[in-house]
Amino acid sequence: MIPYGRQNISEEDISAVIDILKSDFLTQGPTVAQFEKKIANKVGSNFSVAVNSATSALHLACLALGVREGDEVWTSAVTFVASANCALYCGARVDFLDIDPDTYNISIEGLLDKLSAAKKNNSIPKVIIPVHFAGHSCDMEALHGLSKLYGFKILEDASHAMGGTYKGMAIGSCLYSDITVFSFHPVKIITTGEGGVATTNNLEYYEKMLSLRQHGIVKAASNEEIRLRAGEWDYEQRSLGFNYRMTDIQAALGISQLLRLDSFISKRKAIALGYQNALTDFPIGLPNALGLENSSWHLYVIRLKLDVISKSRREVFDCMRSKGVGVNVHYKPVYLHPYYQNLGFQKGLCPMAEAFYESALSLPIHPYLSAIDQATVIDELQKALFT
Ligand SMILES: *Cc1c(COP(=O)(O)O)cnc(C)c1O
Repeated sequence: MIPYGRQNISEEDISAVIDILKSDFLTQGPTVAQFEKKIANKVGSNFSVAVNSATSALHLACLALGVREGDEVWTSAVTFVASANCALYCGARVDFLDIDPDTYNISIEGLLDKLSAAKKNNSIPKVIIPVHFAGHSCDMEALHGLSKLYGFKILEDASHAMGGTYKGMAIGSCLYSDITVFSFHPVKIITTGEGGVATTNNLEYYEKMLSLRQHGIVKAASNEEIRLRAGEWDYEQRSLGFNYRMTDIQAALGISQLLRLDSFISKRKAIALGYQNALTDFPIGLPNALGLENSSWHLYVIRLKLDVISKSRREVFDCMRSKGVGVNVHYKPVYLHPYYQNLGFQKGLCPMAEAFYESALSLPIHPYLSAIDQATVIDELQKALFT
C-alpha cells in the first residue's frame, strides 16, 4: 500500500536517539529545552513549550488562555477532533465554524455573521481555534482584526503546518495570535513519535503552560523567590497540572528531524505541484493553487465532482485502496461524531463543511513518495474515475 503519509527516519535520527539512551537523562534532561529553543528560533516566537502531543498542547494552551466552565470556544468544523476536545477538557462549551469552499479553512464571512449574532446574545467566545487545514494558513490578519473588535483570543491549531508560511512569516511566529500548536505525530511534517509544541510571545502564557506540563509545580531551581524563602530543594504545586512532559528521547529525534524540515517541505511542494499539473483535466476540484508556495502540504485533498462522474466517493475510495493506493478522508465534520451528536449538535450546522466531507479524498503525499508511486496514484485515480 502506498501510504497517504509516512515518517522519514534517517541514520542521523537513529544515532541521535541512541545517544540519549546512553546519556544520563531520558526525560527532564537538557535536550527538551534545546529542542524548544530550536523550534522557537525556527518559527520566530519568543517561547515554546514541548509536550507529549499536540492534544496536550491544545489543552494547556486553552488553560493558559483562561478557558473554563461558562466559556465558549469556536473551531473549524473540518478538523481532527482534538481541536474541539481541548475546550471540553476545560469545561467550556464548543461551537463550530463553517469553512470557505476555496481554502477549506474557516470562512471569515461566516465567522463575522456568527460574531455579530453572538454579540447580541452576549455570547462572544473566549477563544477561537483556527486550523490551518492541510498546511495552508488561515487568513490570520482578518481574524486578528476581528479578535480586536470583538475581544476573543486566538489559538492556532497548526498541527498540519510546521514549515508553512503566512505573508512571509513562519507559521508559529504568533504575530496574529496568542498561542500556536504543532503536532509531531508520525504522519505530520516532522515527528518525535508522539509529541507536540506550543509557541507564544507572551511570558505569562509560557510560564503557565510550563508549570501545567508538570503537575502545576514551580521549582526553586527556576524561581528565585522560592529559592531564597525555602531552599534549593523546594518545589510548590500551585495549580492542578498534568504529566504532559516530552522525553529527551523524543526531543533528540525532533532536533534531528528539524534539520530536514526545509527539505521535507520542498519535496512536499514538488509533489503537490506534480499533482496540480497532472490532474488539471480530471473531474475533480484541486486545492487552491494560491497556497502552493506557502503551504506545508501536509495533505493533498481533492474533491470529486460527484455530479460529473458516475461513481460515489465510496466506490472511488474502495477501488483505489484495492489497487494499493492508500487514499484517505480528512475530515468528517467534528460535530457529526456520535459523542458530539449526543451533545445535541445537528446535521446541517455547517453546510459547506458537510458538502466538503461528502466529496473529499486525500491522495498520498509525503517527502519520500517516489515519482513512480506518484505516477501510480495518478494512474489509479484516472482508472477509478473513468472506468
Ligand atoms: C494531528 C492533529 C492533532 C492532534 O495531534 P496529536 O499530536 O496526535 O495529539 C490536532 N489537531 C489537528 C488538526 C491534527 O491534525
